[in-house]
Amino acid sequence: MSNCLFCKIAAGEIPSNTVYEDEVCYAFHDIAPQAPTHFLVIPKAHIGSVSEVTADNSGTVAHIFEVIAKLAKEQNLESYRVVSNIGEQAGQSVFHLHFHVLSGRDMTWPPG
Ligand code: AMP
Repeated sequence: MSNCLFCKIAAGEIPSNTVYEDEVCYAFHDIAPQAPTHFLVIPKAHIGSVSEVTADNSGTVAHIFEVIAKLAKEQNLESYRVVSNIGEQAGQSVFHLHFHVLSGRDMTWPPG
């Protein structure tokens, strides 16, 4: 999508701090970390949010969760949170599907 920040990051047109990359997804450090570990995992192909996940693209989402599990193991994250905000009221500010991976501090539930 031409005017999408995360499409541009995935394409390398805007710099980011890479955590992991393959043909399907890209992981990079959040620019405003909310925990000692805070990275984002995004599909390279544009999907607006979880609301746009369908039978045609759910394989990409499954792959992203495999990558999250692998990265968490590699980084020895014993306890972590995976978050995806959908819509402005829930806190979504970038309208390209992304999963926050947060770890390294106590977290409360329910979230604010
Ligand atoms: P959300 O608010 O759930 O849509 O999450 C968007 C996230 O993207 C926020 O945590 C931002 O800090 C992060 N973010 C925005 N711009 C960038 C950027 N250029 N590089 C890395 N992370 C970013």
